Amino acid sequence: MAFIKINRENFYHNLNQIVLKTGSREKIAIVLKDNAYGHGLVLIAKLASEFGIKHAVVRRTAEAKQIEAFFDTILILGDNSITHEKFHYTINTLEDIVQAQKGAKVELKVDTGMHRNGISMQELDKALNAIVAHDLNLVGLMTHYRSADELSSELFWQQKNFAWVKEKVKNAGFENVRIHSYNSAALLRSKDFTEDVVRVGIAAYGYNELPTIFDKRVLKPVLSLHANRVSSRVLKKGERVGYGGDYMATQNMTVSTYDLGYGDGWCRGDSGKPFITADKLPILGRVSMDFITLASDKEEVCVVNDAQDAAKQLGTISYEVMTALHKDIKRVLL
Ligand SMILES: *Cc1c(COP(=O)(O)O)cnc(C)c1O
Repeated sequence: MAFIKINRENFYHNLNQIVLKTGSREKIAIVLKDNAYGHGLVLIAKLASEFGIKHAVVRRTAEAKQIEAFFDTILILGDNSITHEKFHYTINTLEDIVQAQKGAKVELKVDTGMHRNGISMQELDKALNAIVAHDLNLVGLMTHYRSADELSSELFWQQKNFAWVKEKVKNAGFENVRIHSYNSAALLRSKDFTEDVVRVGIAAYGYNELPTIFDKRVLKPVLSLHANRVSSRVLKKGERVGYGGDYMATQNMTVSTYDLGYGDGWCRGDSGKPFITADKLPILGRVSMDFITLASDKEEVCVVNDAQDAAKQLGTISYEVMTALHKDIKRVLL
């Protein structure tokens, strides 16, 4: 099977860049959902913890349980709240409050304009009363921005809405409630970060999806994708490769199959617009379930060393390229 290399030095470089914005390591809540954006949940949790990060964010309790030992708090974005010393549960709806276990630590997510998850601003009083009535422990207040990565004033009206929400919660007398609204894009474009914690994902993994006018902080890719040679052969001019014979050899040439395919989460793509690997080799013909063919006889090739470049070729974003990579692919630490 193909394998993934994780570059610790680059990861720590990115985290140091983030610390320049937050002012301290304690303010980073590293987002580890979806197998740490494809990098490997436990491996990245361990590295983050060794760096001095105290807070993490995942989607479900099962993920939190795997990395419990590494952090002081783990925010779970979408699962039923249970009482646990370290686990904080996101309240996305009024029903979430009713379903939560008594005493559970919860963080209230308020919809300030993205209209994806979170209770509405009109429901705020109701939600705060219900949290008290159900004996839940409110430890956080959060929102999410829909356009932090766009060059527009979009971010600002949502921040205004959040300011109104914060004021209301403060006036309701809740204490020890941590406040957070920033993702990577919001943090990278901000000049003065004042919140309690930042939920940072993509920037830690090495990508800045902001327009170039914003902070040109240089981040470095943490993940690279490699494949091993399976078999080689010499094609004569005119012979064709793989399903449908979509690629025809224009001259006598040596080709090899490598052990990566769409079954590993690699994009099947369009053989008419071949993907060019990081080693500058076009994928010849169709991608199979477990194999690609390249004009090479090297034992090992690098398919991706920059997920943003790969995403451009594939018509998607770095997030999707990385999270699609199957969790059984071996992650090797450099
Ligand atoms: C995924 C996620 C983040 C992290 O976003 P990045 O763009 O990767 O920094 C932050 N907050 C929430 C609620 C998320 O779901």
